[in-house]
Amino acid sequence: MKVYKFGGASIKDYKSVRRLARIIRKHNHDEMILIVSAMGKITNSMEDFVLSYTKSFKNLKNKLELIKSFHKEIVKDLFQKNQQSVLKIIESVFNEIDKFLKLNKENDYNFIYDQLVSYGEILSSVIISEYLNSIGLKSKWVDARSCIKTDQYYRDANVDFEKTSKSIKRKIKGKGLFISQGFIGSNKKSYTTTLGREGSDYSAAIFAHALNAESVTIWKDVRGVLNADPRYFNKTKLLNKISYEEAIELAFYGASVIHPKTLQPLKKKKIPLYVKSFLSPSREGTVISKKDHKVKDIPSHIVKWNRVLLKISSKDFSFIVEKKISLIFSMLSKYKIKVELIQNSAISFSVVLNNKYGGLDKLLDELKETFKVSVDKDVSLFTIRHFNRFSLKHIKKLNQNILLEQRTYETLQLVLSRDFKQENLLQFFQR
Ligand code: ASP
Ligand code: MG
Repeated sequence: MKVYKFGGASIKDYKSVRRLARIIRKHNHDEMILIVSAMGKITNSMEDFVLSYTKSFKNLKNKLELIKSFHKEIVKDLFQKNQQSVLKIIESVFNEIDKFLKLNKENDYNFIYDQLVSYGEILSSVIISEYLNSIGLKSKWVDARSCIKTDQYYRDANVDFEKTSKSIKRKIKGKGLFISQGFIGSNKKSYTTTLGREGSDYSAAIFAHALNAESVTIWKDVRGVLNADPRYFNKTKLLNKISYEEAIELAFYGASVIHPKTLQPLKKKKIPLYVKSFLSPSREGTVISKKDHKVKDIPSHIVKWNRVLLKISSKDFSFIVEKKISLIFSMLSKYKIKVELIQNSAISFSVVLNNKYGGLDKLLDELKETFKVSVDKDVSLFTIRHFNRFSLKHIKKLNQNILLEQRTYETLQLVLSRDFKQENLLQFFQR
């Protein structure tokens, strides 16, 4: 079995769905499973809709209507025959959404988020499956919610691999072309859960793991894994071959091509991961596998914008050691705050945070009861993996922006103040 994953950008309009079909046709697809994300930027629109539903109630109907018409337009452009029957399926998905909106009594934002945002993937997979069938690529639609079994941690659910493997094996049997959704799963109570933004890569890896797949291919709008984000840097280099370990490190530091959780399940079963461009499918791209390739002479540059730096110290200047550190961490976990860097001295403890789920203000209130806290918002975390002497020369120019620095043998990380801008990064590739 081969797993192909198509993200939002690769299925953003009817033309790109046709391109997807061409790619599948070209490759051997009688033992293949497609994992698709929501189309284009629909997950963002869904998030925006959920915000209206839970907070402001502004333009609620209108927002949902726009999401519906986006999908209907794609259906109209894709299908000559059978258009009506596909539109009917779309209608029925929106009826389910309406039903949820009417009947829901729960007010946990994260719960509501998962119940609604997940429909992006349902819609895209239904449309693509119907389209493939209509052009003679017979495919079987599989509901990922009946495959991927998770806990109740809405918006960032943890996968139960044992149950999940069993369900996947039960649902995907024999040969054929299967299509399922990325990003979504369900828990014991049969509620939908999601695996975190950009989680479709991870879903693809979970399916591959359960099915002992031959390989996973992620089709992207970039050439493969690059040594920096082409939006911020020019003259980026392609990393042709990377080991799992190296890719895990890069993803962890924030290289946005692969969702960080994706690699562990693949590494366990030694399943290679290909990252290829859907714009030029015949080009090689990147392969991530067990071999230890030499990427050490190519520095990789990764930036995470919009982070928060907290400096925590005790009110009485006492040491910040085990007990206090454990108290701090229990608070961080309580408010679902992601920690991306830690540094401590005798009397202070600094952490760089990602306030993804919006729990920061509550965390600060609670921390301030016990500690002295200083907060820097809008900082960025800049990582250079395999830095060299050129990197060191260039970072000198950033001196006035550096709030914190951490260096290991292989990795250099800087926390940069808010007046550090994208333009400052370009110099790293100008020699
Ligand atoms: N649709 C989800 C998102 O945009 C999952 C994914 O694309 O991987 O975050
Ligand atoms: Mg996406």
